[in-house]
Amino acid sequence: MLSAAAKVNLVLEIRGKRADGYHELATVMQAVDLSDRLVLDEAPGLGLAVNTDGVPCDATNLALRAATTLREAAKIDRGVHITLDKRIPVAAGLGGGSSDAAAVLLGLNRLWGLRWPAARLAEVATALGMDVPFFLRSGAALGTGRGEVLEPVVAGALALVLVNPAFGSSTAEAYGRVTPAMYTDGSRARKLAELLRTRQAARVAASLYNGLEAAVASHHPEIERMRAALLAAGALGAAMSGSGPTVFGVARSFEHARQIRARLTRASWRCWAVRTLAGPAVRMRTSTMSSLGRGQAARRGTLDPVFGGSNPPAPTTIGRGRR
Ligand code: ATP
Repeated sequence: MLSAAAKVNLVLEIRGKRADGYHELATVMQAVDLSDRLVLDEAPGLGLAVNTDGVPCDATNLALRAATTLREAAKIDRGVHITLDKRIPVAAGLGGGSSDAAAVLLGLNRLWGLRWPAARLAEVATALGMDVPFFLRSGAALGTGRGEVLEPVVAGALALVLVNPAFGSSTAEAYGRVTPAMYTDGSRARKLAELLRTRQAARVAASLYNGLEAAVASHHPEIERMRAALLAAGALGAAMSGSGPTVFGVARSFEHARQIRARLTRASWRCWAVRTLAGPAVRMRTSTMSSLGRGQAARRGTLDPVFGGSNPPAPTTIGRGRR
């Protein structure tokens, strides 16, 4: 089983508008341990099964688009059936679709025996979406350009509480509401990237920032309510992630995050206490590793990076292992 983690944007700055129509960003992205699950089975064609309403299961699904795009880029005639178990809320600002796409690229790199290096996969990832390259990598990163130019950030562990109001927010609409008055110079993102090393949750919490938040919150008052509820419940700081509507709060510890989550009682909100991930955003159950040519799995039930180690022979299934 592949596990595809969500991310939060600890800082998201909009620096200006580019000639190509995108916005110039400076963002600190951090993977967290709320993950979708995927199984890839060798098949004659390309197919997908999803367990959640509200996610397309046709060719527009990012997991399937990743397979199609990789197959075309590699000029091969291979197939795959993808089983996608969505756990990350959809259109939530948590990058779920992008993470699924990265998991499929990494999984198919093995299943189809492509042996592409990370840089080559990153080109395909960028064609799928500006957040996808982040999920090919690990932990935390400073993203500039359209968010796809990534510098790894050494980050201490943080405990967060995610709050989602169970409605989605359109990324395109959020960016459509940006005005030049919302532009900032990127210094907040650089400062936060430095602060992350310190493991001082209170200082990180005081430096959260999202340049899209005012534009999105003006259309979704629930965002301000979620932020206020997180702070009232004890969060050290709170901000919207990506284009929203998910809001996250920083806690002193994982136990503290669980207490905060327990205090958020509004029935229509979905809440998670999560830890930040230092390692890869896409991982694989080690119980499947023996079928991937990496010898006996010594740590059954834990998760390993898909990248790293020697290139294994192409297996016929990625991820259908003991769960
Ligand atoms: P964005 O990357 O646009 O900021 P997000 O993180 O806010 O996105 P996603 O959960 O990735 O949100 O969903 C964005 C859109 O992509 C939704 O409208 C959804 O229908 C569509 N989508 C396509 N494939 C997937 C997928 N595998 N998982 C979730 N959403 C998907």
